Parts: sequence; structure tokens; C-alpha cells
Amino acid sequence: MTSVKMCNKEKYIGAHVSAAGGVDQAPLRAKEIGANAFALFTKNQRQWAAKPLTSKTIAAFKKNCQALGFQPEQILPHDSYLINLGAPEEEKLAKSRAAFIDEMERCHQLGLTLLNFHPGSHLKKISEKQCLARIAESINLAHQAVPEVVAVIENTAGQGTNLGWRFEHLAEIISQVEDKTRVGVCIDTCHTFAAGYDLRTKEACAETFRAFDEIVGMHYLRAMHLNDSKTEFSARVDRHHSLGEGEIGWPCFEYIASDPRFNTIPLILETINPDIWPEEINALREFHTNSVV
Ligand SMILES: [Zn+2]
Ligand SMILES: [Zn+2]
Repeated sequence: MTSVKMCNKEKYIGAHVSAAGGVDQAPLRAKEIGANAFALFTKNQRQWAAKPLTSKTIAAFKKNCQALGFQPEQILPHDSYLINLGAPEEEKLAKSRAAFIDEMERCHQLGLTLLNFHPGSHLKKISEKQCLARIAESINLAHQAVPEVVAVIENTAGQGTNLGWRFEHLAEIISQVEDKTRVGVCIDTCHTFAAGYDLRTKEACAETFRAFDEIVGMHYLRAMHLNDSKTEFSARVDRHHSLGEGEIGWPCFEYIASDPRFNTIPLILETINPDIWPEEINALREFHTNSVV
């Protein structure tokens, strides 16, 4: 029995919970749904400016995390959707970089060590190569401005001119980041599938992660978003669905929950029905437990 408990701890499974009423509320909501990991926004994700975190909020967040057993490696803050670290226009780029540094600073103040973000878009005004170089430079600047926090690049569905949908994009950004110890990747299953990497069978999953390992490297995998997909394979459109209800299906999530390569990183649901998060988390835990007993 003890070994089962220990193994359960090795998988950090949770969801992107609301921080309404203050970031210190997020760990409480995560606990309520039976999560041992969570994601959150540390500010309103649809606004540029945010009030600085107060020392009271910071203390309350740390206290709640400690009391409920959430370590920094189990928590995956997500940055604002407005930020474009590869923006073609100088003004937008400068604004994005300042906002990203502020996001990273907030994470650091909260004692957190990861910051999940979408790489950026070229808006057809600069080349892919130029955009990827800007994104890498943005990460380098953030590293210089804020200590410790790891920049966790999320792969995208490749909607519009968003980069980061091909594993080669992620590898190219990482290759230009100076401090490789502070850069990582978050693989979103919905985005991966929409970008044209199949995940519908365990064999397909094995092939997709083999490709990821070859092109990027599994050691860069710092987090995952577990979402099914409403849109079909390779659609390049980002529409999340509840696990098992979309085009990907359960075998992918069983594969991830059973494979120890995905232990000890946050596995975060961004699925569309928060009411069934407890069941989704339980199902993933059961796959994990069955695989190790
Ligand atoms: Zn995201
Ligand atoms: Zn995601």
C-alpha cells in the first residue's frame, strides 16, 4: 500500500483553476477538486496592467500552498494572452517584453519556479526565423531581469501566424536561449494533435514523443496540458474538449498517466467542463496506479 501512495505522488495532476478573489485562493480550489498540481493566472490574463501583488497576498499564497502540500514544481502559472514575445512592431514587442518580465517577477515573488507562455506570432510582417529569434531574445532579457524562474514554452495549435506548433520551432528558440537551465517546454495534447502530431493510439503517442525527444529532447519537458480536441487531426485550430470526448480519445491520456517519463511535472487539465475535473483527475490517477502496481 505504501508503494502505491508514493507512486501516486509521482504524478502531479490538476487543472487550471480560477484565481478570482486573489491568487491565494487558487491552491484552495485545486485541493477541492482532488488535485496535487494546478495552473493559474497571477493577474487578469486579458489586461496589460495589473496591480502589484501585496505582501499580504504573497504570504497567504505561500501559506496555503505549504498547508495543502503544493511545492513550486507542482504549480504552473500561465502568462497573459496579450503578450507576443515575437511581435514584429517594436512598440508591441517592448510592451510584451515588459509585461512578460512583470509576469516572471510575480512568479518569483510567489516563490514559483515555472512560467508557461505561448511563444508568439509573426503576423506575416517578419519571417518565421526572425520571429523565433525575437522570442529567444525576449526570454534572454527576462532571464537577465528576474532570477530563477524557468521560461516554459507551450507548443501551439498553429492557428493563424502563431509559431511553436512544430517541434522544430521549439528547438530553434531553445537553441538561441543562453541559459538552457531556465528554459523548458509545456506540451499541450490538444495543440499537438491540432498541429499534426497524432495521439489517437498508444503507438501514435510513442511516435509523437519519439519525435519530440529527437527534435527537442525529453529533458526539456517541464509540464503538460492534458486536453482532448474538438477539432480534427491536423486542423491547426485550437478547441479544447473534455478527456475522451474529443478526437484524441482516452488511449493518449492513459499513455501519459502510465508512463514514468511524465512523472514529477505538472499535468494540467484545461478541459471545458470544470464540473467533471474531479472525475478526470481520478481517471488519470487510476491509469497511473494500475500501471505501477
Ligand atoms: Zn496556454
Ligand atoms: Zn494549453
